[in-house]
Amino acid sequence: MYRFFISRESIDEAAGTIQIQGEDVGHIHSVLRMKPGEEVLLCTGMEGDQTDYLCRIEGYSDGAVLTKIVSKNRSQQELPSRLYLFQGLPKADKLESIIQKSVELGVYRIVPTLMKRCVVKPDTKKIAKKTARWNAIALAAAKQSKRGIVPEVTEPVSFLEALELTRSLDHVVVPYENSDGIEHTRVVLSSVKPGESCGIFIGPEGGFDENEINMLRDIGGAIVTLGHRILRTETAGPAVLAALMLHLEE
Ligand code: SAH
Repeated sequence: MYRFFISRESIDEAAGTIQIQGEDVGHIHSVLRMKPGEEVLLCTGMEGDQTDYLCRIEGYSDGAVLTKIVSKNRSQQELPSRLYLFQGLPKADKLESIIQKSVELGVYRIVPTLMKRCVVKPDTKKIAKKTARWNAIALAAAKQSKRGIVPEVTEPVSFLEALELTRSLDHVVVPYENSDGIEHTRVVLSSVKPGESCGIFIGPEGGFDENEINMLRDIGGAIVTLGHRILRTETAGPAVLAALMLHLEE
């Protein structure tokens, strides 16, 4: 069943109706050629509102799709824990594929993080445009993977700002290329429980600076290995998300 994200304002709970507006209207009408009577799944995708509305298409009017709410349920599409990916800003457009894979794997929020060995320094003039593009990629991936929310990609933060953000998290996991002991990794990942939040720090192509690892350890980060092989920065984040998803999915 097709799933579309709608704004909270387009829901009229009293009347039991929802209007789909914007670019999805053309897709529904002209590409999918959906007819009155057919059903769609609608959700706001907003943090904290994981309601799936099963709706029946009633018709088209004024550039909107008019639908009637048939039923509403708590979205089954989300992991029971909030996984934050603090991704060391990678070169070129690698972040775009990291965003796409991470959204498919259930990430809650992606925080591009400036680390010592990052090669690229974001151009402040282009940040807003880049961040908007990153969030458009997250929206497309959320639609394709039928997420109950649209994970946010924040503007890049400094390493110290990222450390500050971890204060509100229950767990911080730091895959570090120079660590070992896969059993410790298993213990750390399985300690993340439903309802908890977990930050995951991934270094850029050049890896972590020793000082960054010390600071992450100081704030209680668990330094873990992801095995004997060296993963690319664009592989490591999705690998950890997949391991956590396997452990957390209900
Ligand atoms: N330049 C480094 C690799 C950096 S890989 C080197 O060649 O040694 C980018 C990031 O992926 C690392 O900083 C780490 O966060 C993660 N990573 C890659 N392989 C890993 C492994 N085997 N164990 C733990 N983390 C790993």
